[in-house]
Amino acid sequence: MTIEIDSGSGFCFGVTTAIRKAEEELAKGNKLYCLGDIVHNGMECERLAQLGLITINHEEMEQLHDVKVLLRAHGEPPETYELARKNGIEIIDATCPVVLQLQKRIKKQYEAPLPSPSKGEAPQIVIFGKPGHAEVIGLAGQTQNRAIVIANFEDVKRLDFTRDIYLYSQTTKSLDEFHRIIKYIQQHIAPGCIFQSFDTICRQVANRMPNISTFAARHDLVLFVCGRKSSNGRVLFGECQRVNPNSHLIEGPSEIQPQWFSEVKTVGICGATSTPKWLMEQCRDYIINTI
Ligand code: SF4
Repeated sequence: MTIEIDSGSGFCFGVTTAIRKAEEELAKGNKLYCLGDIVHNGMECERLAQLGLITINHEEMEQLHDVKVLLRAHGEPPETYELARKNGIEIIDATCPVVLQLQKRIKKQYEAPLPSPSKGEAPQIVIFGKPGHAEVIGLAGQTQNRAIVIANFEDVKRLDFTRDIYLYSQTTKSLDEFHRIIKYIQQHIAPGCIFQSFDTICRQVANRMPNISTFAARHDLVLFVCGRKSSNGRVLFGECQRVNPNSHLIEGPSEIQPQWFSEVKTVGICGATSTPKWLMEQCRDYIINTI
């Protein structure tokens, strides 16, 4: 029997890099704070807490002075950097390079001179993203919070189509919905107004759906490792089941059942964007040692 762990499952490279930076700093014996959960996975946060990582929120950061604070992959608005400077806090910046690039683009657009000053009105900078999400707060912060955040297709109708529109997207939003929004704006923008859209959706996550279908289809048995509360996990697991009915969702090795393995030649282990690689490896080792 062969066992394959899906190399495309688990944390994206932005999150993996942030975790590595935290581990490197903690290994030096330094005290390290992290602003917000480093990843949406309780087990991984707990593992890093055991290594000494202290997770704080923005209010708690305001009380800190002369310490090191890691900024996670989602990024932060300029005020956080300003607060760090004021309080003598050293920033370990683990903002994902893709997010950082997007922040810079939005800032540049916001600071650009008006294309037609005679119109007198600034263009609308629009971010398709989840209001209140850390990445979106960091992006809107580049525009002194003047950007318009639209959460879904319905929200696009709130825009003023008689003014210029520059559209961006949070990195983890749906490509399909983004394209529907673009189409709607193209159909409604007033003649003479500028509309530009920038596809800033990260393929690390957008490509998971097609990739997981291919992976699940080539194995006799699929073990999808994921917390049952993960919404991203439910969607990806549904896709595994669609292409391979012999797929099982498990939270860890203890849920693996020996009867699943009769007449099975290949096992595929995969998971959600919040599944740590070490947990998938534990499942593989459990099969090797006990089945
Ligand atoms: S931009 Fe992509 S790689 Fe970076 S944190 Fe977001 S999902 Fe991960």
